[in-house]
Formats: sequence, C-alpha cells, structure tokens
Amino acid sequence: MPDAAITRQVAQRLRELYEHHRTLDPREVASFYEPGRGTYPPELAGAEADRFGIALATVDDGALHTVGDDTTPFALQSISKVFAYALAVEDHGEDEVMRHVGVEPSGDAFNSIVFDERRNRPYNPMVNAGAIVTSSLVRGRDGAEKLDRILDAVRRYAGNPSLRVDEETFAGEMQIADRNRAIAYLMRSQGMLEGDVEETLELYLRQCSITVTCRDLAVAGATLANGGVNPVTGERVLGRARVRGVLSVMYTCGMYDFAGEWAFEVGVPAKSGVSGGILAAVPGKMGIAVLSPGLDEYGNSVRGTRVCREMSVRLGLHTFAAESEDEILRASAS
Ligand code: GLU
Repeated sequence: MPDAAITRQVAQRLRELYEHHRTLDPREVASFYEPGRGTYPPELAGAEADRFGIALATVDDGALHTVGDDTTPFALQSISKVFAYALAVEDHGEDEVMRHVGVEPSGDAFNSIVFDERRNRPYNPMVNAGAIVTSSLVRGRDGAEKLDRILDAVRRYAGNPSLRVDEETFAGEMQIADRNRAIAYLMRSQGMLEGDVEETLELYLRQCSITVTCRDLAVAGATLANGGVNPVTGERVLGRARVRGVLSVMYTCGMYDFAGEWAFEVGVPAKSGVSGGILAAVPGKMGIAVLSPGLDEYGNSVRGTRVCREMSVRLGLHTFAAESEDEILRASAS
C-alpha cells in the first residue's frame, strides 16, 4: 500500500494543478470534436467544455491518484494508435513493421495525405496513414479478430476487462470517414496497404472508438512506463524490448505536428486524441492521463497540454532535465 503521507501529498498537488487549469477562456480553444459531426467551434460546445479530469498511476506500487472527472468514458481516438502499433510490432518485429511504416515525424497534420515517397510508406504509425497500415498488420483472420486482439491488449494495458468499443462513436466516425477512406485507397493503389480497404477502415475506426476513463488510461500509461508490465495486475503486456520503440515513436510523433515543441517543453513520451485525451508515460515513474475536450490549433487538448507541461516542470519529469522546479528553487536559494 502507498504511504498515506505521500498519497496525501500527491492528492494535494493534483488538486492544485486541477484548480490552476480549471478556468479556461473559450477564446483559447480552437475547436471541439464529435464523431459524426467532426470539429466544431467553441461557441457551440455544451457541457463538454467543462469536462476535465487528471489521473496518475505510479509504477512502483500501481497507486492511482485522480482529480476531477475520472469516470466518464471517452473514445481513445488517436491514442489507440499506440496500442495497435505495439501489437503489430509484437506480431512481426520492429524491422518488418518498419518496412511498411516509418518512424519519421511528418511535420504535417495527423490526417494529411502525405507519404514518405522515397520509401513508399507512411511517415510514422501515429498519423492516420501509418495507423491504418499498422492496424492492418495486426495478426488475425479478419478485421473482427484483429479488433478483438487490439481490444484485448488495451484491456490488459489498463487492467480493465470491461473496456469495449462504443458502437455509436464508431457509427459517427464512419459518417465522416471520407478522408481516411481516401488515404487508405491511395495507399493501396501505391502498394503501401494490402487487403480489403473497407474492412481495414472499419477496424481502424472501431479501435479509435474503444472507450476508457482517465483511470484506465493512467494505468495503461504506467504499464508502458513500467517496461510493459501492468503495475496493478502484474501482467506483462508488452515485451520489454518493444517498449523502447513504442515510447520513442510516441516521443517524436505522438502529439501531432506539435510533437517537437512537446518534446522540447514537456519532454515525456505521450499521445493525444481528438476526443481531448492525453496519455503520457514517464519511464520508471508513472502514467498520466488527462481528459479535457477543448482542442488547440494542433488538435491537442488545451488543458491537457498545460497540465502535462506544469507537471513536467514541477516534478522534474522531462527526459533531459536532471531536477524538478522545487529542487532548482532549493538549490538557488541555498
Ligand atoms: N477518428 C479520428 C480519425 O482518424 C481519430 C483522429 C485523432 O484522434 O487524431 O480521423
């Protein structure tokens, strides 16, 4: 069991963070997103504008700390790309997956219709083109079996066997799938994608429609941060040797075309989705999940980005930072 004093301290820190970022000027939000409707302007947002939750799961004891909305399920959306990529790599190995999808940040929006022309493959598994290919690579007789395997993996990362695909979300995604469909057909015409495009598209959009809570996502992050072993259930979900590659791709490509700035400022592997979720994994330390649906111009959660940035500074989480803000302040005062 976690030490009660530490638990209290973390709870207080989280509460401060939550209060600090609770107020959000709608003018600072570029858009919201809803399946079936796509992106829409902040003035049309309802209750989702206020939805805000933070969860943190530690690696050493799997202790979960949460504040705000930690129980409302939301769709993984692009965050699912991490789990599908990890599974494809488990199935085929890094080299084989790399033949089909690169690990190069594209510098373009997640849904752009650009490919690595020199290598005839999508740039990376975190943009839609790459994610569609990695989902198709997941082993399985058909789309249904591939989806079962992806869903089963997400459940084990989160330690929650009741996670499911929200069919309503999926139906909404299918209504606005033209761009993904175009990307998929174009890739097949150029030999980057094989098989039944419609089946792959449905698989990809169903995996995007798996719903989780902040609690689930924080534990999933802690599993990645813990070398692939779920710190709550003790189950190994991803081979230790695979974790390095998955976290590297998250680090360089996980935050849409803001990935460079994220790596610079926040400095932890993370992935966001249009539903306003962010999953971050701090190796050896913790998994962090934030949900707040207001998005910035890159498509990342406005509050989520701010919370992660502040947490990184205050707790010294940046991959290349030796100390936390508290330690820096203490050192400069002495
Ligand atoms: N369902 C979305 C799409 O593929 C996911 C996008 C995202 O979260 O970035 O268009």
